[in-house]
Amino acid sequence: MRAVPAAIDDVLHRTIDGGGHVCVLTGAGMSAESGIPTFRGTHDSLWSRFDPMRLATAGAWREDPALVWGWYRWRMHRVREAQPNAGHRALAQLTRRVPLWLVTQNVDDLHERGGSTVDAHVHGNLFALRCFACGRAHEGPLDEYMDDAQRVEPMRCVACGDRIRPGVVWFGEALPEDAWTTAVDAATRCSLMLVVGTSGLVYPAAGLPALARRHGAVVVEINPELTALSADADHVWCATAAQALPLLAR
Ligand code: NAD
Ligand code: ZN
Repeated sequence: MRAVPAAIDDVLHRTIDGGGHVCVLTGAGMSAESGIPTFRGTHDSLWSRFDPMRLATAGAWREDPALVWGWYRWRMHRVREAQPNAGHRALAQLTRRVPLWLVTQNVDDLHERGGSTVDAHVHGNLFALRCFACGRAHEGPLDEYMDDAQRVEPMRCVACGDRIRPGVVWFGEALPEDAWTTAVDAATRCSLMLVVGTSGLVYPAAGLPALARRHGAVVVEINPELTALSADADHVWCATAAQALPLLAR
């Protein structure tokens, strides 16, 4: 792949020339080339026999907190070991060409480490630990990561003694209000929405491209596979994040 498809290049130029804004919506595929597994792609770990949809819920936590915390410790470890990829770095560069809002469903910190400011982490942040019961932020150090440990007893809250949970939004939970308001605002006001590496199955985030389109934006999807959003996108660019975004940022 050497160039941006002509129609997409055209839309980007029109956005820049018209003084418009870009909204970038990213999902797990954004971080795949950094070695962070997606939920619905191929799995490559000892956790592959577990279903993320069954681990990422408050019910799973109540039932078996050590299993869920072990999984999150493993995910946190993977993120700590990973580096931003060329796609993350390219988005930081793209902000120099065009005003851009960055809305991510990812709970890792690879956008930030790649040089971007994230406007909305709509599904929270792995490392923003808090108490499951009273919500108090956990400020102490993280417990030690034990390789291969599938079950890890969670740390305890210094205020109430309940367990410390990861700062992510679990299936069935409400999205953080500020992040969601920002995301809706960006989707409503952008002239171009780039949808990168999301399967488009997790609502309400998956509704943002349609919202942008209703408000007049052109929607461009970047994904090596077709998704639930492809049919409603104006342009589908079949490429990975690390292939496509550096071309757009040039
Ligand atoms: P998903 O796992 O449902 O879908 C991943 C999508 O990425 C697929 O459409 C796949 O075709 C695409 N993809 C795979 N490799 C790609 C690449 N190199 N470049 C571009 N696209 C690629 O992910 P989702 O839609 O984000 O929804 C899953 C939920 O899981 C989200 O809520 C998210 O918070 C969470 N999650 C986050 C991370 C992370 O923070 N890195 C990782 C896994 C899951
Ligand atoms: Zn507490």
